[in-house]
Amino acid sequence: MHDLIIIGSGIAGMTASIYASRYGIKHLIFGEIPGGQGNLAHMVENYPGVLSIKGPQLMGKIIEQVKSYNVDIRQEKVGGLKKVSAGYFKVETGKGEYGAKSLILAMGASYRHLNILGEDNFLGRGVSYCAICDAPFFKDKIVAVAGGGDSAVSGAIHVSNFAKKVYLIHRRNEFRAEKAWVEKLRKKKNIEVILSSVIKEVYGKEKVEGIIIKSLKSRRAVEDPRQKSPGHENIKTRKQFKIDGLFIEIGQAPSSVLAKQLRVKLDKGDYVLVDSDMATNVSGVFAAGDLAAQKGGILFRQFVTAAADGARAASSVYHYLVQKPAAPSWGKQ
Ligand code: NAP
Repeated sequence: MHDLIIIGSGIAGMTASIYASRYGIKHLIFGEIPGGQGNLAHMVENYPGVLSIKGPQLMGKIIEQVKSYNVDIRQEKVGGLKKVSAGYFKVETGKGEYGAKSLILAMGASYRHLNILGEDNFLGRGVSYCAICDAPFFKDKIVAVAGGGDSAVSGAIHVSNFAKKVYLIHRRNEFRAEKAWVEKLRKKKNIEVILSSVIKEVYGKEKVEGIIIKSLKSRRAVEDPRQKSPGHENIKTRKQFKIDGLFIEIGQAPSSVLAKQLRVKLDKGDYVLVDSDMATNVSGVFAAGDLAAQKGGILFRQFVTAAADGARAASSVYHYLVQKPAAPSWGKQ
């Protein structure tokens, strides 16, 4: 029986572990890829104390710090979470069952899809959700990047170091990415920005050969994020671009499937609702990082916010465990 099990080994889960270790909380971390999505960041230039660092390098340092406390990081996929009784939880993986008095859910998020024709067909054959991982495969090629946030803009900059030409296609007429990224983007001569446009189709034979995009007439039509397919009725033109690769960098959706098994309350976007102490509505269950959201709060997903969430969740677990729930009869050590 563990005092705490952390599910998710990205920056939120790892920071929770560092703080849990320092509080003396006996715990385990489950996560298939230590470092999680943090491994995919091209450059991180807004983490305090570090001028500029590659995502995998930063995560490597954090993992090293976790391991310095002899924490067991299990690269096992968690398939089930169950509340057995008040304050006792069962975590199931393909390899066994583990008992815990408390849980921190830090499963993060997974890539959003454009849901366009050809997207699934050409996955791994020109379509990628990770510019940082796959850019080197497109040396001297022509590629497109979809999206308008930090991932798309920083991703396009990264890809432009390999590809001969990059189209950055965004559905609005301005980016939501940090100004610092947009300024860097402007200096890149081989990036062509195409605004107020949506990709309708990716086509090819064996691999991606091109995309069809439609430009949108009105600014208002693409400004309403509640509109699922912005600007459909405002379609003005349709163009074909010959490309070798398409990077879809349009953000992520919360990985809340396991949270649902615990009947944890979610918001409309399926984020796990937490209070200011990162506590969910289920006593003993806390959440941190990209998966968690506070009611009415603005979604702000950064390395530093995920780390802060993890620290706060571990502190809350410490205070929660002071109540010392009685041990159940099951659960492997
Ligand atoms: P994001 O901020 O949610 O941006 C997603 C972008 O994709 C938005 O511009 C959005 O358009 C667009 N989009 C969403 N669904 C779309 C669809 N179906 N069709 C076309 N476009 C669509 O996601 P993100 O860029 O991945 O960033 C997530 C968080 O990670 C942010 O907090 C970001 O700051 C952080 N991050 C930081 C770095 C860094 O600094 N190194 C790098 C990557 C990410 P709308 O604008 O119209 O909504």
